[in-house]
Amino acid sequence: MRDASPQTVFLKDYTPPEYLIEQIELNFDLDEQHTQVRSTLSLRRNPQSQDSSTALTLLGEELQLVSIAIDGQALEQSQYLLGEEALVVHEVPQDRPFQIVIENVINPQANTALEGLYLSSSMLCTQCEAQGFRKITWFLDRPDVMSRFKTTLTGDKSKYPVLLSNGNKIGQGELENNRHWVSWEDPFAKPCYLFALVAGQLECVADEFITMTGRRIALEIFVEQHNIDKCDHAMQSLKNAMHWDEETYGLEYDLDLYMIVAVDHFNMGAMENKGLNVFNTKFVLARPDTATDSDYEHIEGVIGHEYFHNWSGNRVTCRDWFQLSLKEGFTVFRDQQFSGDRTSPAVKRIEDVNALRTRQFAEDAGPLAHPIRPEAYIEINNFYTLTVYEKGAEVVRMLHTLLDAAGFRKGCDLYFQRHDGQAVTCEDFVKALEDANGVELKQFRLWYSQAGTPVLTVSQQYDSESQQLHLTIQQNCPPTPNQPVKAPLHIPVKLGLLAADGSAAQIHYNDSSQAEITLNVTEAEQTFSFAQLPQPPVVSLLRGFSAPVTLKMERSLDELAFLLRHDSDTFNRWEAGQQLAVQVIFKLIDAIELGRPLQLEPVIVDAYRSVLIDSSGDLSYQALLLALPEESYLSGQMAVIDVEAIHQAREFVKKTLAEQLQVEFKQLYQQHHRDESGSFDAGAVGRRRLKNACLSYLSKLENQDVYHIAEQQFYSARNMTDQLTALSAIVNSNHPAKARSLDSFYVQWRQEALVIDKWFTLQATSSMPNTFATVQALMKHPAFDMKTPNRVRSLIGAFSQANPLHFHAINGEGYRFLADQVLALNTLNPQIASRMVTGLAQWRRYDAARQGLMKQQLQRIVATEHLSKDVYEIASKSLA
Ligand SMILES: [Zn+2]
Repeated sequence: MRDASPQTVFLKDYTPPEYLIEQIELNFDLDEQHTQVRSTLSLRRNPQSQDSSTALTLLGEELQLVSIAIDGQALEQSQYLLGEEALVVHEVPQDRPFQIVIENVINPQANTALEGLYLSSSMLCTQCEAQGFRKITWFLDRPDVMSRFKTTLTGDKSKYPVLLSNGNKIGQGELENNRHWVSWEDPFAKPCYLFALVAGQLECVADEFITMTGRRIALEIFVEQHNIDKCDHAMQSLKNAMHWDEETYGLEYDLDLYMIVAVDHFNMGAMENKGLNVFNTKFVLARPDTATDSDYEHIEGVIGHEYFHNWSGNRVTCRDWFQLSLKEGFTVFRDQQFSGDRTSPAVKRIEDVNALRTRQFAEDAGPLAHPIRPEAYIEINNFYTLTVYEKGAEVVRMLHTLLDAAGFRKGCDLYFQRHDGQAVTCEDFVKALEDANGVELKQFRLWYSQAGTPVLTVSQQYDSESQQLHLTIQQNCPPTPNQPVKAPLHIPVKLGLLAADGSAAQIHYNDSSQAEITLNVTEAEQTFSFAQLPQPPVVSLLRGFSAPVTLKMERSLDELAFLLRHDSDTFNRWEAGQQLAVQVIFKLIDAIELGRPLQLEPVIVDAYRSVLIDSSGDLSYQALLLALPEESYLSGQMAVIDVEAIHQAREFVKKTLAEQLQVEFKQLYQQHHRDESGSFDAGAVGRRRLKNACLSYLSKLENQDVYHIAEQQFYSARNMTDQLTALSAIVNSNHPAKARSLDSFYVQWRQEALVIDKWFTLQATSSMPNTFATVQALMKHPAFDMKTPNRVRSLIGAFSQANPLHFHAINGEGYRFLADQVLALNTLNPQIASRMVTGLAQWRRYDAARQGLMKQQLQRIVATEHLSKDVYEIASKSLA
């Protein structure tokens, strides 16, 4: 809970730890309410430390001290000071290594914050990143203190038949009173945030992987008994990830055992604890009838992500939490590459950019903007952000582009070789890439320290006499909190040129001739000239979204339609369709605001028709070409967000396209609609994506024929993708069977928590009237539980973050509701509470009436007593 003035931690204040802990031996006597911990620390003075104090400060919170001893001598109360957040031993040996033994007690059942050791259903498990270990025992809880862990777990055999921790199992035995013990040893020194233990009644799915050097690795996935039939995909994903990392990065797994445990109650997605990953069930469990195709993809991505951390995060870790992007940005980039290789690189890239532009760009433009390497924090849990993760990955991707794949790999090899077993900084990463390639990336480093999304403004001039094209690119980055003025960044901009017939025109630039080049934009304004162009070409710029920037370039609707038809770059082809739709929608928004009648530009109908009839390639990609820009993306383009006009204009486009192209939509739907069991292969996934995109359009027609199609699909579906899309079409229309379908879905899936989450989300994100009343009623539903983060996200999170139309209702009821829930969550789970506050953070982007209402709720939150540091930081920064 918050002191009078919560402290800010600054990167510039970093100093090396005063002591090192080379080894820790942990003994747990497990119990739901009364777990006893005995910790034996082998310490010595850190020769790198400049500090001259002879005291030792160990961090610990919400712990009950039983005893403390140094080198076998119990300490008197006068020899230490026990505070709320630390235990200070006044005098410890300076000239020799010494041992401290601490005994303490914790109550996992009371731990609803889900940090440290806690209870999930009947299972005991841990979450220590970022600073949860200090809720287990007193320690130097910082990532640059790396220790070898030996852990012994003791507990009741019936309640806790399975006892797991990091590393390899080194012993086990029986005890009196139906109790038993298991010992684990991790040979790799690690920071305490990578510690984990799990105890419970778990079933195991086992397999093995043979590494590139022929070592046999046992793979084990632990779940509750009723989920044992939903682990196959996760296991296959793990093997795919292990194989991919060997092939792509030459990195092999190091322990003999790799374990994954799925738990119901989890604040994040998953956690890369050494050898013992703990996962949110959402990213493990899948069966075709319970999980959608997107769920399958996310599972493979997250399993890959946590596995890749074994090198990018565990073997080489972060010196301090300001360096979080060192492990997260890099590992997200690695998991994006992996997922692209596993599915479709074009589709994966579009999905990632879409998420980045709608959500991270908003963060970067608001009061919570921060660089990927932040300079200050009050609560580090608040910095597990889209900026650190997703923009961090974009920064690594730009390095990959600038150095090319081979150069990037060379740099990574040097990084892992040079820093194995160390806790390092983002600077060390960039330095390794520079040294391996003999290049200099001085200006590029600004991406780590500057916040905000740069805007590239591009103008073109064609000179028919000299047959030259001149492209002038200006860069500008708007001010962000504490950074009023920005320096120009080094921005890689990929470029292609198209001839009038749609073919690629050669790019003659600096004595070379290529079909595609990367321009190095490094100045505030630069002009690039291209020769030997007898006709003015059409420019395809920022191919593959080669930098996380906003591109401003005058384009006619016809030019965009041309690029949508011909651009060979799959990202830019999709982007042309998006920008075409954006322009059309914004003209309609203007008409709505002026009270004029709405008319759809024929060019977009023709463009969509040509997409609909070209069903030759990747069907998932075709489905993406048909998707209109989301309301949240459109919001990001408006100076003052008009949620109602955005919704109305976008719905008008969707409905009119459905009317004018209904023959094509229906034909395509029927062509790809099959009775499928839901196999997860690219062909089947593509068929489902495309036909469901068609259904989503058709459902706007609100006619009997389409009602029938949706209901048919809902009741006959044998896979969750089809069933859920059909239900969504029903829920977001005036379908007469709406209530009956929702009930039947609930009854069918009431035992499957993850499916019921979808049921909540579907209702919370509906654009139909009365949604707010539905959300309020769902808060009282017996299946709703404030202590389960997935459930909170599926209802409160979905409503406040994915239903702009109703959350921003002009009467302010959505804002009041969210503040009520934030305050309720504040005492239960501060991390989840602060995530929910972000729904109010963008208040300055709305009209005066909404601004006032949102601000009022933020002020109400800040004025509340006993506010957690987590919530205080987000709410107060939002108001600043
Ligand atoms: Zn991660």
